[in-house]
Amino acid sequence: MKERNEKIPNPREIEKEISDFLSRKYGDQVKIVSPIVMPQQEESDDGSTKGRNRHNIEFDLKPEELIRYLDQYIIRQESAKQILATKICTHFNRIRYQKREDAGGEEVTGGIKNNVLMIGPTGVGKTYMIKLIAKKLGVPFVKGDATKFSETGYVGGDVDDLVRDLFRESDNDIDLAQYGIVYIDEIDKIASSKNYVGADVSRTGVQRALLKPMEETEVEMKVPHDPISMIQEVEQFRKTGKREKKSINTKNILFIMSGAFGELPEIIKKRTTDQSIGFGAKMNTQEKPASILKCAKAEDLIEYGFESEFVGRLPVKAIFEELEHEDLLNILRNPNNPVILNKRMDFATYGIDIKFSDEALAYLAKQAQEENTGARGLVSVIEQVLIPFETHLPSTNIKHFPVPIDVIKNSEAILKEWLNGSGSEKRLAEFDQITEEYRGFIKSYIKENRNSLASQHGLPLSPYRIGRIADFYCNNVSEIGQAIKSIKSYYDQIKRIEIEFYNRHEINIVLEEDAVDFMLEKLIDRSADIKAINSKLSTDFEYGLKLIREKTGRNRFFVSRYALENPETFLSQLIKAEFNRADADLAVADLRMNSGDDLTT
Ligand code: ADP
Repeated sequence: MKERNEKIPNPREIEKEISDFLSRKYGDQVKIVSPIVMPQQEESDDGSTKGRNRHNIEFDLKPEELIRYLDQYIIRQESAKQILATKICTHFNRIRYQKREDAGGEEVTGGIKNNVLMIGPTGVGKTYMIKLIAKKLGVPFVKGDATKFSETGYVGGDVDDLVRDLFRESDNDIDLAQYGIVYIDEIDKIASSKNYVGADVSRTGVQRALLKPMEETEVEMKVPHDPISMIQEVEQFRKTGKREKKSINTKNILFIMSGAFGELPEIIKKRTTDQSIGFGAKMNTQEKPASILKCAKAEDLIEYGFESEFVGRLPVKAIFEELEHEDLLNILRNPNNPVILNKRMDFATYGIDIKFSDEALAYLAKQAQEENTGARGLVSVIEQVLIPFETHLPSTNIKHFPVPIDVIKNSEAILKEWLNGSGSEKRLAEFDQITEEYRGFIKSYIKENRNSLASQHGLPLSPYRIGRIADFYCNNVSEIGQAIKSIKSYYDQIKRIEIEFYNRHEINIVLEEDAVDFMLEKLIDRSADIKAINSKLSTDFEYGLKLIREKTGRNRFFVSRYALENPETFLSQLIKAEFNRADADLAVADLRMNSGDDLTT
């Protein structure tokens, strides 16, 4: 009996259906590009977003899981990764622990929050890391700039504004806003300095203004200078007729401050040298700033120009290292990194597929390093080379844009040639070659990270699947996780076949991995759909397996690719083997009855 049991498809299913339709109609020439540049929220089985749960943060990540997640995006910064992942995980797990039902409001009086101070040069991943963490945990995140605070007289208001922004970031959910992360950059610029007496007053003022929110305070949502909050208040009153007391308590809000702290290594060096007089343990002056900064103590920050109360509220320090050429290259190579994904997306907008050769990436990384702005240099160097192409190619019929090192070095001449309509054969050959090279690289990336990717996505990664994931990744602008999810959605459909078969025939079949891959192949190249696979399975196996079940009582069968391709031979071999086994069992039972012996011992 046919059942019409249609549920409303989710956006991904709709996207798949549209993409199926397009590819049936236009072949491989038209593709849907998934708008994914930042990591996606994980969806739980019921389709809700994990973590970002109204009124109740549902958070159960362990620090190591968070580190593994960050490893997929962040190059280097191992020590900062470990410190931040651990302390932020503990911060949120602790909130959950204190909120558990049997806790009875238990709290440690005078507990100190794990606010973090991040120290490191520009463009090395400080903001990126916090954004990734906030996204993974599903907590709201806002970023502000300390220099802005000191420019105005009303410093306290600026900090409060950031807290209020958390409320907007959480879709006006106060409970969620109270678990947010406030990130303040350029904090080193509010250190007081002996040279600027005038500025000092306001700098120290900003530090003081931050003290309360960093610990615990109530921030009023309604402020006279913010028309949006006033409108919200009126709207709320119109809807409910009630005037709600709205304020955010900052007790559980994590404050993360960051800055380059240019002269701090000198201060640390001086202190350690002074202290070591008479002890002989001098700091090596050749050491890199990051390793010197790891020895930073509260007294060094106070010497730098911070109030001791302020330093006391930043008990966790994370030091970020400078990125070297190899690191910048690895950032460009990382299939999840937004620098290249954004560029691919920019061109995909015009239906242009852009692919970079590894040699070209190495060259770009070298140029970026000279800019001395960390990974930010990568973006500016790439933009500089590609803007003329981005201006002109969309008006041509060029859809394949290879970027070997030549295109970077002689960009003007090559673009001119292409616009004149020449060099297309060479261009297409280069594109194919780079795509092949790239596909190989993506395959080896997945192989290297096979175990963690497999467990994270619940998809065993056979060589066939790795190949198809690499194909998907090369043909669509997406992160690796998204490519895996696209194959996983087919895989899940196939695993449901086992249940379907049982529901229809009350026989358990277990599809072996090579059988699953065989079906995946059919679904992906669209030579069959899931309905066709289901009905072929019933036609081929129902009768034979039922026969075996009747004769032997056996009700669980392993189905391999060989079985799917040769159902008749498989069944007759199975029947023979089963009947032989049944005969043998019978013979044993006869023997047992006749001899009266316990043959099982
Ligand atoms: P900052 O340290 O100044 O906060 P960002 O975190 O904003 O720098 O870095 C800018 C961009 O450079 C990020 O969005 C990211 O794409 C890239 N990036 C920087 N550092 C790293 C890193 N260690 N690993 C991977 N990407 C990075």
